Amino acid sequence: MSLDLLRHLDVLHDPRFAASATQPDPSVILSENPATGKPLGGVRLQDADAYDKCVAASHAAFLRWREVPAPARGQIVREMADEFRKFKEPLGELVSLEMGKIRAEGLGEVQETIDIADYAVGLSRQLPGQVFPSERAGHRMFEQWLPLGPVGVITAFNFPNAVWAWNAMLAAICGDTVVWKPSLLTPLVSIATQRIADRVLTRHGHPDVFQLIIGADDVVGHRMVADRRFPLISATGSCRMGRAVGRVVADRLGRCLLELGGNNAIIVNDDADQELAVRAVVFGAVGTAGQRCTTTRRIIVHEKIADGFVSRLVKGYQQVMAKIGDPRKEGTLVGPLANARAVEGFLAAIAAAKQQGASVLVGGDRASLPGELASGHFVQPTIIRAPAGNKLPIAQEETFAPILYIFTFKTLDEAISLHNGVDQGLSSAIFTESIRASERFLSVTGSGSDCGIANVNIGTSGAEIGGAFGGEKDTGGGRESGSDSWKAYMRRQTCTINYGGRFELAQGIRFE
Ligand code: NAD
Repeated sequence: MSLDLLRHLDVLHDPRFAASATQPDPSVILSENPATGKPLGGVRLQDADAYDKCVAASHAAFLRWREVPAPARGQIVREMADEFRKFKEPLGELVSLEMGKIRAEGLGEVQETIDIADYAVGLSRQLPGQVFPSERAGHRMFEQWLPLGPVGVITAFNFPNAVWAWNAMLAAICGDTVVWKPSLLTPLVSIATQRIADRVLTRHGHPDVFQLIIGADDVVGHRMVADRRFPLISATGSCRMGRAVGRVVADRLGRCLLELGGNNAIIVNDDADQELAVRAVVFGAVGTAGQRCTTTRRIIVHEKIADGFVSRLVKGYQQVMAKIGDPRKEGTLVGPLANARAVEGFLAAIAAAKQQGASVLVGGDRASLPGELASGHFVQPTIIRAPAGNKLPIAQEETFAPILYIFTFKTLDEAISLHNGVDQGLSSAIFTESIRASERFLSVTGSGSDCGIANVNIGTSGAEIGGAFGGEKDTGGGRESGSDSWKAYMRRQTCTINYGGRFELAQGIRFE
């Protein structure tokens, strides 16, 4: 079954695919189905030589690609969007199979790739510049945006297709080429993705615009980050990774676009529409088995409604427990975690929370499933309540698993202070019917939510591609996707033309 899928997606013809690799071979990694713990296929790791060839080809391709007019680049991206539309079902299924998110979310991820490609096509006809009034007579001053160069893209396992697309589609219309280093947990999705895009690029005589390099961090990742041939490194992953990458890129004075971990909270005010809030919290906390950067990890609920709200949530979770299972099966709501290490991390966080005085209201253990799923990495979605006044040190960390911590508050100021009192600053939300509470949360003074994303009456998870996506503080400060995120992939040039013919200096300086 999975072989048919890989054949259909043309993965089997990739020279990196090593179907029969089961024996220990240090140059091959086995991609695993997290729902069964069984291997899906081997992938040959690429070495430093392959890396160098790939970057050289990307640089040569850049010199040709930047000469293609932006709208013509957009037309090629349009064809890529069509190609991803054609392969949406099987590619979405492979995302489910290799990453473990449920089928609807796997398809949603590929849809996100299609959406950002469509967005990039439009943008290719409107990359703007600005004209500014010059203080000197007979002068014109303006700003233009130029292609940047090859972009190094490092991606996390949890969005193995869409995060590449967020970067690659914008970079492509901006005139850049891309070298992609994916997570070693999801190499098959990256090969399938690359081959779909490659077919279109090859048809148009630009085969090297997108490159994929699959290798170990110490062979490929570290080299890429330190490589001056990449004016921009766009890296998505944990804060730990971002710190390491940021340091190295800063040292060579390169540019970084960092999309790192979150610790997202929802404030539930006493006037909230609780039905709406419960649905958003359950999806936000349990969806993708808690493995989204925007996963809801903390609830800060008004003490007046806390007990009732929490018991509604617990009921919702109890229903979800019956829907843990094979992510590719219709009706499943919760798939597995990425691997055995993630399960260990989940159990360790729960033990720490108990030790810090919190109580587990629902879940708290591995989920045992029958048949071949018995060896999968399943856990129970878990709700943990913090004792009043206890900030719970473990809740300050991002544990990449479905654990939801509950805190209570008396005043909105207290809620916002609890909300902002973590190192990360990605996504945030408040549920309230009060315009005052909502405006306080979104205050233009910056005294409300300190996150890159702030929502009212929708949860923290599931962003549209039209807005800029990213977060503050330890989340890294990067912005991808919509709005003016394209600027990260271009360099700005300020130009002044003297058409008057007189020698005139700025600030009225005379130099006779
Ligand atoms: P990870 O940090 O373990 O790995 C991410 C990528 O970085 C992988 O490709 C890995 O090989 C690479 N990497 C790690 N250290 C490196 C180094 N020193 N130099 C170069 N490359 C290095 O993260 P993960 O477990 O794959 O993904 C989960 C994390 O990603 C979570 O923290 C999640 O919040 C975050 N994430 C953030 C966003 C966002 O947009 N903010 C989106 C998705 C995931």
